[in-house]
Amino acid sequence: MVGVTKLEVAAMPGDRDVLKYVQLRYDNDELVCTTDEVNEEENFLFDCTPTPPPRSKVLLHSCCAPCSGAMVEEMRYLMDLDITIFFYNPNIHPKKEYEIRKEENIKYAIKHGIPFVDCDYDSEAWFKRMIGFELEPERGIRCSACFDMRMEVTAAYAAEHGFSYFTTTNATSRWKDEHQVNLSGVRAALLYKDKGVPLKFWVYNWRTDAMTRRKYQVSVDEKFYKQEYCGCSYSLRDSNIWRAQQGIPKVKIGGDTAGLGTRYFENVDADEAEESQQVVDAFFKDANDHFGDAKRPQKYKLALQKSSAVFADRQKSADNVDANNW
Ligand code: SF4
Repeated sequence: MVGVTKLEVAAMPGDRDVLKYVQLRYDNDELVCTTDEVNEEENFLFDCTPTPPPRSKVLLHSCCAPCSGAMVEEMRYLMDLDITIFFYNPNIHPKKEYEIRKEENIKYAIKHGIPFVDCDYDSEAWFKRMIGFELEPERGIRCSACFDMRMEVTAAYAAEHGFSYFTTTNATSRWKDEHQVNLSGVRAALLYKDKGVPLKFWVYNWRTDAMTRRKYQVSVDEKFYKQEYCGCSYSLRDSNIWRAQQGIPKVKIGGDTAGLGTRYFENVDADEAEESQQVVDAFFKDANDHFGDAKRPQKYKLALQKSSAVFADRQKSADNVDANNW
């Protein structure tokens, strides 16, 4: 039975300003998100997050329609969970790309009668929180900060609106380190541990072969818009550097770059092959190697020392791709 769709703009959590600027566990720029740094309590939570009982209220943080499609099916129709989609992704850049991804997700939510919470696009706060992490490769500390920010706001909304569980679509993609994603969720849930709020981050394996295959099938059936980079300006920049080295056309945002048209999912095998483990591994190998330019971090630091004003504009416009892709 399809429920009534409710579209609303989220009232932001009261203590959000405090959450927004706290850099959790990022002492001296050291990478913290490794499994050996997960403490005993967090390990316990990783192992013990059983599937919520049927009809449980679950807040599903969603990054996009393709990542949420199969997950929504599973949660809604097989597990009989009472889900609400929570769209909070200030990382997505530029704004046009953000709007496209959001609209795709709203359409899918409406089709399935799932409540959709359209949260803020506070990209300025996102850019501020990422200062110092701009040249981090994907899966590095910038991504921990990005997941933390999104999970903290998701947890705050869940706590204020009577959800017992929250989880995220971020863990479905092969491009993501699922432990890194889950750790951010667990950390966000732990913020409520001593406040008497019974909130849990639900850890589940959404990346089985069957789920991955279904994810692509849903994306093809729905003809979802096919994004070509993780989301932030830095991932857009790095994807384009890598593509140039591979001789692949640069990323298209909303289909208007290079006049090549909007890309949609249209072939399960071909779409899945684009995200094969081989491709993913090749990208990360190059990214961790700074795409063959070992001096890249040093060049950036020197440029920043020379003139921080050069970079100041990057935070001001959510639409200015060039200013944000340094
Ligand atoms: S690469 Fe993706 S997860 Fe990492 S900071 Fe950018 S948007 Fe966030």
